[in-house]
Amino acid sequence: MLTINDLIQNEDTRRKYHDIKNMVGSSGMRSSIYDVNNICNLRCKGCFYFSSDQHKLDDQKDLDELAAFIGREKARGVNYAILIGGEPSLTLDRLDVWYANIKCSSATNGIKKIERDRYPDMRVGISLWGDEEDEIRLRGKNTFLISRQNYRNDPNVYYLYTVTAQTIGQMETVTKKIEEAGLRVHYQLFSNDQGEEGMDWTEDLYKEVRDNMDAMLEKYPQVVISSKYYHQVLTTQTMLGRRFGWMECPSVSDAVDDRDPRPKRLYGFNSYGSDYTTVHRCCTSVTRDCATCHDGAATMSWIMVNKREHMTDPVDFANWVDVTHMFARLYEYIPW
Ligand code: SF4
Ligand code: SF4
Repeated sequence: MLTINDLIQNEDTRRKYHDIKNMVGSSGMRSSIYDVNNICNLRCKGCFYFSSDQHKLDDQKDLDELAAFIGREKARGVNYAILIGGEPSLTLDRLDVWYANIKCSSATNGIKKIERDRYPDMRVGISLWGDEEDEIRLRGKNTFLISRQNYRNDPNVYYLYTVTAQTIGQMETVTKKIEEAGLRVHYQLFSNDQGEEGMDWTEDLYKEVRDNMDAMLEKYPQVVISSKYYHQVLTTQTMLGRRFGWMECPSVSDAVDDRDPRPKRLYGFNSYGSDYTTVHRCCTSVTRDCATCHDGAATMSWIMVNKREHMTDPVDFANWVDVTHMFARLYEYIPW
């Protein structure tokens, strides 16, 4: 195996590697995902949260019990909580408990503002499905306009923009609107869990969206938090000749991971339902087909946990560094 010095062959990789080396050191980031509640003020087309009945769990409303659960998670080694749905902004009393007890970031659909004064340094990721007309069509409201107004110029907010097969052409318009609002964006691809007509990816569409993501990253480097290697893996679902899927996925919950052999995976990662007893299969839902999964976080984690496999060639290693650096920026381990 080559040494780090052999592998680093340009200043950009050296700088990024220096940035991330503390994060990937002895303890690193040990995250898990938690549903904060089981309600939402939207019903988006194709939402796996509702279609897989995750909302039917009896959510934990007792704040003392919640604090005790967080304590147990920390004792298990978790040092970063990724808070997701239903919709975290609808139960701020619970968000308060999370924020007071562990480093965390929260997802939101952006309709109800999570006040910055209440959570001064919490990263907020706004889910976005397209430009304003698409948000109305797919989510029933112009959530993009509302969320831009709510979070304008907030330095700790980004859009998690799920690009669909039908919305590739709007990526630049959307990215420009995000730039104008003083915010940032990270892309992932839609997974057609419910077989919506016209929403499947084809080889031509993969190429088109990849070219577009690359172009956006080049044109708006201060706005787009991404990496060309991430785009490549996301749109080919392959990495170093291996195919993404169930037997490779790093984001299967530890508590239910019965794969044999177990692949490299996120250490101690679990995805909890809002009762904090139920553990979901993975970071998405049991109803999703791994063969067509395009989850962005699982994809970037897949690259990250396979560091060693990227250490035989300087180009591969630079790619690994690039994705890990992107991940660290998204999850606030290093500044944007
Ligand atoms: S905002 Fe999120 S949880 Fe709510 S319906 Fe849409 S995708 Fe589902
Ligand atoms: S659906 Fe996606 S995230 Fe879940 S186990 Fe399959 S590949 Fe992993």
